[in-house]
Amino acid sequence: MPIKNRIAEFHPDMTAWRRDIHAHPELRFAETRTAALVADKLRSFGCDVVETGIAQTGVVGVIHGKSTASGRTLGFRADMDALPIHEQSSAEHASQTPGIMHACGHDGHTTMLLGAARYLAETRNFDGTVVLLFQPAEEGGGGALAMVEAGVMERFGIDEVYGMHNMPGIPTGAFALRPGPLLAAADFFDITVAGRGGHGALPEQTADPTVAAAALLTALQTIASRNTDPKTAVVVTVGGLRSDSDAHNVIPDRVTLKGTTRYLDPALKGWIKDRMETIATGTAQAYGCSATLDYSYVVPPTVNQPDQTRIAAEAAARVAGADAVDTQADPTMGGEDFADMLAVRPGAFILIGNGDSAGLHHPAYDFNDAILPVGSSWFADLAESRLAAS
Ligand SMILES: [Zn+2]
Ligand SMILES: [Zn+2]
Repeated sequence: MPIKNRIAEFHPDMTAWRRDIHAHPELRFAETRTAALVADKLRSFGCDVVETGIAQTGVVGVIHGKSTASGRTLGFRADMDALPIHEQSSAEHASQTPGIMHACGHDGHTTMLLGAARYLAETRNFDGTVVLLFQPAEEGGGGALAMVEAGVMERFGIDEVYGMHNMPGIPTGAFALRPGPLLAAADFFDITVAGRGGHGALPEQTADPTVAAAALLTALQTIASRNTDPKTAVVVTVGGLRSDSDAHNVIPDRVTLKGTTRYLDPALKGWIKDRMETIATGTAQAYGCSATLDYSYVVPPTVNQPDQTRIAAEAAARVAGADAVDTQADPTMGGEDFADMLAVRPGAFILIGNGDSAGLHHPAYDFNDAILPVGSSWFADLAESRLAAS
């Protein structure tokens, strides 16, 4: 595999960094040890600028090429946070913090971008500037948006952004991407159905919110199955239904439903919420109850721009071979907050195969160290090709 030879030379170092980060996972916006480690390494590589404390725990590194005459700047992004999951592992580098683990491979993403930084700071064989964006809180914390709102795009003059996520099930070190939506929007909702509780033996004296919530749970499925064009991907998942009573013989006053909606087409934003509101209100009313909807837009769809997708795919093909790059990957209904960077700058997001590992967010998951130099080489190739020195 034609990974960069120089990067292959520090594969053992990268493996050690990755395992160190893995053993010391930190939750969103608490990535202080990880951020300090990243900043230390960036300084030791000789990055021109290293800034910490951006969007709380984010770190930015800047590397100028041999020339900066092109005036062009690329942003490369990695995420640093772990998840509140208890790791199942007997590995020496297993999490040392009970209940927290790197179950999404952000330890690997951070390390791959560090490897690219070391190479690029050493070689500088490009015309322009590379900005390394180590963001906090990808897992439901809005870290990418926080970095954008902290002004990183303007302050560092970023023209284009690129990001990468590992994917179990894709062969080790192979790549997958597509132009257009690659990952879905992820919205969260809470619906409270309020009725009039009472004795479980006397339903005629109540307005039963449990029965109304059960009907609503079923009715919400029609947003995807009856209201959406069958060729368009929409998911409506109710992940929990909770009553304010635990008793067997009580009809509660209130039942809440919570869940998530997913869609690839940005134009569906708002429409799903409106349908949900109409169905919730109407269904509750039919059972003599009322419903209130609390709906939040967490991340938009991750939409790859065609030009940057082609550039990202060409870099991947040089690193892994054209046969190992799927340029028409199926979109997934998972969400990714890099979408918030793609919403303000053209760019592309790529998946790199983690091989036959446990799935993301599974307690037995581990990042595959074999792909560290592959991912680093992709970033490095992007810099050298997109900012080709003349
Ligand atoms: Zn994740
Ligand atoms: Zn992730």
